[in-house]
Amino acid sequence: MWAKLRSHLAVKLFISYLVIIMIGLAVQVIVAEVAMPSAFQRHMANVGTGMGGMMGNGGARAMGFYDNFRAAVNEALVVAGVAALLAAIVVSLVIARRVVAPVESITHASQRIADGHYDHRVAAPQADPQAADEIGQLARAFNKMAERLEHTEQMRRDLLGDVSHELRTPLTAIKGSMEALEDGVLAAEPATFQRIQAEADRLQRLVDDLQELSRMEAGAYVLDRQPLAVDTLVQMARERVAPVYQQKRITLTAEVAPRLPPVFGDPDRLLQVLLNLLNNAAQYTPAGGAVCVEAKLVGHEVLMLVADNGVGISAEHIPHLFTRFYRVDKSRSRQAGGGSGIGLAIARHLVEAHGGRIWAESEGEGKGSTFTVALPVHQN
Ligand code: ADP
Repeated sequence: MWAKLRSHLAVKLFISYLVIIMIGLAVQVIVAEVAMPSAFQRHMANVGTGMGGMMGNGGARAMGFYDNFRAAVNEALVVAGVAALLAAIVVSLVIARRVVAPVESITHASQRIADGHYDHRVAAPQADPQAADEIGQLARAFNKMAERLEHTEQMRRDLLGDVSHELRTPLTAIKGSMEALEDGVLAAEPATFQRIQAEADRLQRLVDDLQELSRMEAGAYVLDRQPLAVDTLVQMARERVAPVYQQKRITLTAEVAPRLPPVFGDPDRLLQVLLNLLNNAAQYTPAGGAVCVEAKLVGHEVLMLVADNGVGISAEHIPHLFTRFYRVDKSRSRQAGGGSGIGLAIARHLVEAHGGRIWAESEGEGKGSTFTVALPVHQN
């Protein structure tokens, strides 16, 4: 209860005012107690000296008593009041500093971030009960925002770096080949043109992927959803990837549960997702390996699994696989003629747009991987 009350700034301020008033009052009473006797004695001494000439005059003597008594009380009150005022000012300053300090540190942090220092944070220890009030919450919200900004900024830098790197590699290769052709170093034969063509294809793929990703992220696409039989989808995907699998001598099997209920989806988009997973499986599985695509009903979801016995993924990479441009091993996927880490980001967008989920599992490097897409069953 007390902790809860303390977590509100208004309550804290109210208590602070109360403390200031109480301390002021206490100081006033104590100082008055201390100052009163000496002031009283001094003023009463005046009554004694003035009494000589006024003997016998009872009324005037009483007046003298009263004036001196009042002067003694007033003097004590003034001394005590000044002391109380000083105490209240000191306590107020201390309390105000405690309240204002975190606000100042948030202002300072926001200025640092505005200047591009995205790693700056406000010190707000989570365990500190003082930090539970509105200012503490503000500090934590601020830190969360700063973390997001830092992450976005990092992504932006990575994006620029990755895009320019990805563009540079095929461009350099194309330029080099063209110069060599011109100088007569390279023979103008089909193999040379095929190499140039392959690099140009890579450029085209990257630009297409980037365009697709930006369309997805901006939500600038329409899903043409309809009741969809999953076995047909799996069959279509298998037929499409068959040449790649044959070429790489990877066995592709399918296990589709009978009488699967339909899902409600865009056939082209879901095929795109499945093709992406199957192409990845082929790419990250060595020749002679095996890939199995499975479809089954679990609860109210149809699961489509693509499991391979390929290179596998270590646990630290798994949470990031669906982040754009994330590649476990940049050189590996590039050498293997792989993409630029956009495919799974697009797949996740598409699956989530269907109200589904997508995730990856792997026992670790060299132990294969399984990618699962879960889509809600179509309700009539
Ligand atoms: P890419 O076009 O580079 O394959 P993706 O977004 O499709 O990009 O995949 C991201 C990264 O996830 C890949 O670079 C790769 O490191 C890893 N990955 C994807 N699928 C598999 C798989 N079946 N086995 C091992 N690693 C995989």
